[in-house]
Amino acid sequence: MGSPDLGRPELTPAIVQDADSGRVLMLAWMDEEALRLTRETGEAWFWSRSRRQLWRKGETSGHTLAVEELREDCDGDAILVRVRPAGPTCHTGASSCFAPWLWRRIKERELERSEGSYVVSLLDDPKLAARKVGEEGLEAALAGASESDERLVEEVADLWFHSYALLAARGLDPAQVEDELRRRVR
Ligand SMILES: [Zn+2]
Repeated sequence: MGSPDLGRPELTPAIVQDADSGRVLMLAWMDEEALRLTRETGEAWFWSRSRRQLWRKGETSGHTLAVEELREDCDGDAILVRVRPAGPTCHTGASSCFAPWLWRRIKERELERSEGSYVVSLLDDPKLAARKVGEEGLEAALAGASESDERLVEEVADLWFHSYALLAARGLDPAQVEDELRRRVR
């Protein structure tokens, strides 16, 4: 603050982490003012490099971040922001900006809700999505048993896509599947 050499605030990368799951949600930038506002309000504020202004996360979407803890790294050039999010953190509607690409695409389709979208028809009908997972699972199995590598890749792509759509249709998130897998390894 009060630096005479204008324009560009000193920016520190802020790694935003879910306080419960430990999952990394997003990366953003903080200047001193963002840090001060975050401390004062208990909600995450950042500096937008593209808009060149301070912004309160969720000021338009309502998906704010309640800050549990701010932690500086060993030499003070990064901040860990541990939060409880009020909704999906990513603008795509995914819970994390680092969610798998396919998932972010599906959540984007869900937000857009374009007329005639196949994804939307699956999201609106969990039974249809479930039936497709059954069909694609069988096709992937058949391809795996006796068809070319190319066919197997195609069928597994269909299976993954429809599995994600089914999770979305049921209001679930692949992060929950990851958590379940991690629990089994422990
Ligand atoms: Zn994002």
